[in-house]
Amino acid sequence: MGLSGLQIYKLLPKTNCKECGFPTCLAFAMKLAAQQVELSACPYVSEEAKQQLAAASQPPIRLITLGAGDKKIEVGNETVLFRHEKTFYHPPALIVRLKDTLPLEECKAQVAQIGSYAVERVGLTFGVNAIAMENASGDAATFAQRVEVANSSGLPLVLMSKNPAALEAALAKVGNAKPMIYAADANNWQAMAGLARRYGTSLAVHSDNDLGALTELTEKVKGAGAEDIVLDPGARDLHSSLISLTQLRRLALKKQFRPLGYPVIAFPGEVAKTVEEEAILAAQHIAKYGGFIVLDHFDPAVIYPLLTLRLNIYTDPQKPIQVSPGLYEINSPKPSSPLLVTTNFSLTYFTVAGEVEGSGVPAWLLIADAEGLSVLTSWAAGKFDAEKIAKSVKQFNVESKINHRKLVIPGLVAVLSGDLEEELPGWEIRVGPREAIDLPAYLKNVWT
Ligand code: SF4
Repeated sequence: MGLSGLQIYKLLPKTNCKECGFPTCLAFAMKLAAQQVELSACPYVSEEAKQQLAAASQPPIRLITLGAGDKKIEVGNETVLFRHEKTFYHPPALIVRLKDTLPLEECKAQVAQIGSYAVERVGLTFGVNAIAMENASGDAATFAQRVEVANSSGLPLVLMSKNPAALEAALAKVGNAKPMIYAADANNWQAMAGLARRYGTSLAVHSDNDLGALTELTEKVKGAGAEDIVLDPGARDLHSSLISLTQLRRLALKKQFRPLGYPVIAFPGEVAKTVEEEAILAAQHIAKYGGFIVLDHFDPAVIYPLLTLRLNIYTDPQKPIQVSPGLYEINSPKPSSPLLVTTNFSLTYFTVAGEVEGSGVPAWLLIADAEGLSVLTSWAAGKFDAEKIAKSVKQFNVESKINHRKLVIPGLVAVLSGDLEEELPGWEIRVGPREAIDLPAYLKNVWT
């Protein structure tokens, strides 16, 4: 159990200097007890107090790193049950499982396909995070060979086998890539913990729907020197996995129960009868509370919506994804091309820019700084008004780029047109469509 706020307070300097960002040491202590701040925010804690506070300042869910290099993934270290309390920081890894029974050439082809899959959304590029290779053949040499193929993708790996000898053969080839070993159970935990310790990898522990046995197992492998643990509670269907994963998250956060303070690995494909069912289960695990989600099908039609869902849940709502304000050129505009304005909310920008680009009409797109909010929200908050738009026109030197004085504003803020004509004397303010999807028709039919 961690320390209470008052216990922590007794160990702080009690000077109320405010350097941590809180008005008093007591306020800081309360936040530290709730695992919502880092102890390092106070520069005046003594070494002795730091040691005593170590338990309180440890994250309730250990951060696990899978892989090495620029594609490594970090999972865990979450501090809240619900995103509205704070935010979620480390998105679950989406992993695709292959079996080592795949013919070599087919294995190579699938690995290449998975490794090269990339999609762009709101200016960010996403893909599959890792490949899991299962030792379905039971043969150590075949397993090691297929693992090497998977490693050629550059993605982190999960090595799945019950046989420590097969795992060792694979680790001898790819141990430097810091894969995860799956999984230690009641029978093989000593050998598995030994491998994890020797190769410095993370280790998943598996128990069949028994959190007591899972607790016992984590304590055993930790005692044997495996620090980076991942939990597989064995629950697979929608109902039992929701209960199990929620229990684990609550035990870690609310009870600060260290033996289960690790991320969870989930296998939505194991009970799903169709790819759609697998997608639904995976979506549930993204929302609550999967850390590593192993899919049995690589289908872009499923992966893309899962990536989008994950992005939605793991985007900090207090810090919207933004693009830089400025004047953007679309389809090589000329001075006579239309000029449109919108806000710097990423989704808004990419939606509007995508429609204009798709229309084939050359245009200028002025992006005003609305603190990353969408059109209506920023207008309602007073962050996208006539003054702000006029300021952007001047700031980005728009008049030097175009030979007309016509500005198209979003239809949702038609109400701004009067004020804008006052802020921009000599300009004609035109009201564009309410929805970005109607922009191509507007540009082709109305503007011209
Ligand atoms: Fe207290 Fe440290 Fe915060 Fe200063 S920085 S108010 S000493 S907790």
